[in-house]
Amino acid sequence: SPGTGPLLVVEGLTRHFGGVRAVDGCSFTVERGSITGLIGPNGSGKTTVFNLLDGGLRAQAGTVHLAGRPIHALPPHRRARAGLARTYQATRIFPSLTVLENLLVPGRGSRAGSGTGSVAGSTTRAREWLEFVGMGEYAGHPAGRLSYGQQKLVELAQALMLEPRLLLLDEPAAGINPALVERLCEIIRTLNRGGMTVLIVEHDLPLVLSLCDRVHVMAEGRVLASGPPGRIEHDPAVQDAYLGE
Ligand code: ADP
Repeated sequence: SPGTGPLLVVEGLTRHFGGVRAVDGCSFTVERGSITGLIGPNGSGKTTVFNLLDGGLRAQAGTVHLAGRPIHALPPHRRARAGLARTYQATRIFPSLTVLENLLVPGRGSRAGSGTGSVAGSTTRAREWLEFVGMGEYAGHPAGRLSYGQQKLVELAQALMLEPRLLLLDEPAAGINPALVERLCEIIRTLNRGGMTVLIVEHDLPLVLSLCDRVHVMAEGRVLASGPPGRIEHDPAVQDAYLGE
């Protein structure tokens, strides 16, 4: 039922590219209210899993349930409407638009333009999310002039415009300075305290261990171990898989 059980249930998810078994029978769950980490060596399939979750890629086998509802056959914008939003490793900001305008563009999977709410209401929400990520003073700036880290914060605000139940963060800390990483962690913790569930792919292992309640470790397209950070950290099989890159 929608109100109980894990928020996300992934079962047997599979996507091969020719002979490459990018994702190969991948199963895991994300508990409601958790910050869950997805880690593993380069090429273990993490990004492909995200692309399968948000619908950018179609799975060849397997199922994805969000709050008890199957979403694996839905196109990306319907998955967004079902409560799933993501950020990308590389930013997808429109450089010539202002920061505020970027939040109001009906992008891939966006709810904006779906006929709900007014433009004025959207603008108010956009300003609120920009304040929330600490980018309020840049609302009128061309997004292309921001630093890479600031663009990532704008992209996060863009995802928050969907008011997702499940927020997928793809390498949020990659390429940004330590002060912004610190701010980012605070933002994620605050969102989570407010009830948002977060699934995060991140290469920075100490960051994942400090932020997450539960961690899934991928190798060769599937989850080989799951547990709380304290246990995952010391699992020899995990250390082999994760550090063996
Ligand atoms: P990770 O995010 O863990 O580094 P990826 O999901 O990016 O892993 O990649 C998993 C495997 O799938 C890699 O071997 C990668 O080269 C391959 N792969 C990913 N996307 C494609 C694609 N579009 N075409 C061919 N191979 C791909």
